[in-house]
Amino acid sequence: MQSTLRVQPRSLPAQGRCASRRPRILRPLHVAQPLQQRSAVLARGTAASDDTLTADVVIVGAGIVGLFAAADLLKAGLSVALLERKGLCAGATGAGQGYLWRAHRNPGSVGWALAARSVALWHRLVEADPAFREAIEWQDCGSLLVATSPSEAASLSERQMHLNEVGVRASYMDGRRLADAEPGLALPPGGAALLVGADTQINGRKAAHILLDKCRASPAFTDVMGEGGEVQGLELAAGPGGGHVVRTKGGRVRARHALVLAAGVWTGGLLAGATGDQEWKALLQPRRGHLLELPQPAGMPRVVHGMMEMSYTKHYAHASGATTPGPTASVTEDAEVDITFTATTSASGTLLIGSSREFSGWETDPSPAVVSAIMQRAALFLPGLQPAAAQAAAAAAAAIGSSSSSGSSSSSAGVPGMTVRVGLRPYAVGGLPMVGPVAGAPGLFVAAGHEGSGLCMGPATGQLLSRHVRKHVGAAAAAPASSSSSASSTSSAAAAGGAAAKKADSLDTRSFEDLLPDVRRKAAFGSAAGKK
Ligand SMILES: Cc1cc2nc3c(=O)[nH]c(=O)nc-3n(C[C@H](O)[C@H](O)[C@H](O)COP(=O)(O)OP(=O)(O)OC[C@H]3O[C@@H](n4cnc5c(N)ncnc54)[C@H](O)[C@@H]3O)c2cc1C
Repeated sequence: MQSTLRVQPRSLPAQGRCASRRPRILRPLHVAQPLQQRSAVLARGTAASDDTLTADVVIVGAGIVGLFAAADLLKAGLSVALLERKGLCAGATGAGQGYLWRAHRNPGSVGWALAARSVALWHRLVEADPAFREAIEWQDCGSLLVATSPSEAASLSERQMHLNEVGVRASYMDGRRLADAEPGLALPPGGAALLVGADTQINGRKAAHILLDKCRASPAFTDVMGEGGEVQGLELAAGPGGGHVVRTKGGRVRARHALVLAAGVWTGGLLAGATGDQEWKALLQPRRGHLLELPQPAGMPRVVHGMMEMSYTKHYAHASGATTPGPTASVTEDAEVDITFTATTSASGTLLIGSSREFSGWETDPSPAVVSAIMQRAALFLPGLQPAAAQAAAAAAAAIGSSSSSGSSSSSAGVPGMTVRVGLRPYAVGGLPMVGPVAGAPGLFVAAGHEGSGLCMGPATGQLLSRHVRKHVGAAAAAPASSSSSASSTSSAAAAGGAAAKKADSLDTRSFEDLLPDVRRKAAFGSAAGKK
């Protein structure tokens, strides 16, 4: 099925609701040293440069990945400037729901390791701070991976064994047990499910807001949201001691030690622009997704668990640890819209129904045809959705029948009270994210490409990225300094970074070498950076 229908262009609820603050205009500010009070910073520019803002680390992109990276770097004692061109949740983070699921992942892979570590960190965060847990709408609802045929059910048993082997308790549920556990679910004879009781769900947007608030509580942090934070170009330093410069609409921002590109799917373009190497751009592709939120349908039993159909696992199959994904990792493999049933109940009682995946460019307007297809699929599993599915189908048909798409779809896409979220998942060819330094550009780092897992994988990604940056800062401090001014700033940042690095932290970057940008790039295109 192709997504050919378009509705009247309008702003997405995801963006409108999430960008709660007025964009900040870039102001003269110099986050000079770790832990220095913002009030003590320098006015615009210094004798040495006309930079508007300087920080130890500059991060581009205030999605969930940039936020977790910022939080960890601040914890390490480094000053951080976060640049965002639109507002919080303007990218994929605003569309994502926040399933922290493991049932569909493959133990033993590097993707699994990143997700499992992240889930552990999420747990640590909410256990340490009950207010945070409540604010992000943490739900211990468990997840059900649903099989609709005897052959799928057989593969559930295999998966159950693998999950149990790595300590994730998974229980096989036959149709009879499922009828009690999930009364709204209808499966054909032979259907079954795997229950991972410890899987959880959060509200991704709320998590992003609270993470930003936590960062803002640090005097070593500043953020620039809106026009002034839009990165227009990068000037990479010629040598290791220089410090990269980011050109924004609001002025020049200098990364004293590290520049981190965490701009989701837009990271590829920024990297290609900076390095002149277009393969970086091709490595990251927008994978559009729709997610539907609607009031609990009358008469339908409440969805108890997070649910996903078995075919959801295919999106994670080629990201299961193969260092070199085969040709099937090509972005053209599923040019048509893929619809996979997912469902959960949010903390506020609304029903969340997903989801679509398609490589269809940069468009983020909702498609009535895709909305309808998601509803039809969901109604096969949840018959209580049939009336809503019929309404969505009628709206899609009306959109097709109208000579122009103008006015053919309401914001509810035909279903009263429904809102549609659309986001561009950052898909990295091969299916694994990139986290780490860019070879040949000392001080330049990437954290992007998490596709449908950024909310889940955010915490460990932030930690891993921060570890890479601290290693770099430490190495720069140990190397002979190219100038006295860079030497003094490096050594103070290194002291802060080094002290934090000494704290007990079991993270070993070597376990995640498959995620290094150049490794991912080589796996995708067979060439290392700068060799083309
Ligand atoms: C429908 C849907 C459902 C999903 N469900 C889940 C889920 O249940 N669980 C899960 O783990 N994941 C889920 N995801 C995936 C998840 O949302 C993403 O993996 C994650 O949000 C990516 O975060 P990010 O920070 O890398 O990118 P983004 O959130 O896209 O953030 C990148 C930011 O960079 C900014 N930016 C871009 N260019 C520039 C520039 N030049 N200057 C300044 N700023 C710039 C953008 O405005 C944006 O705010 C879902 C995604 C979708 C679409």
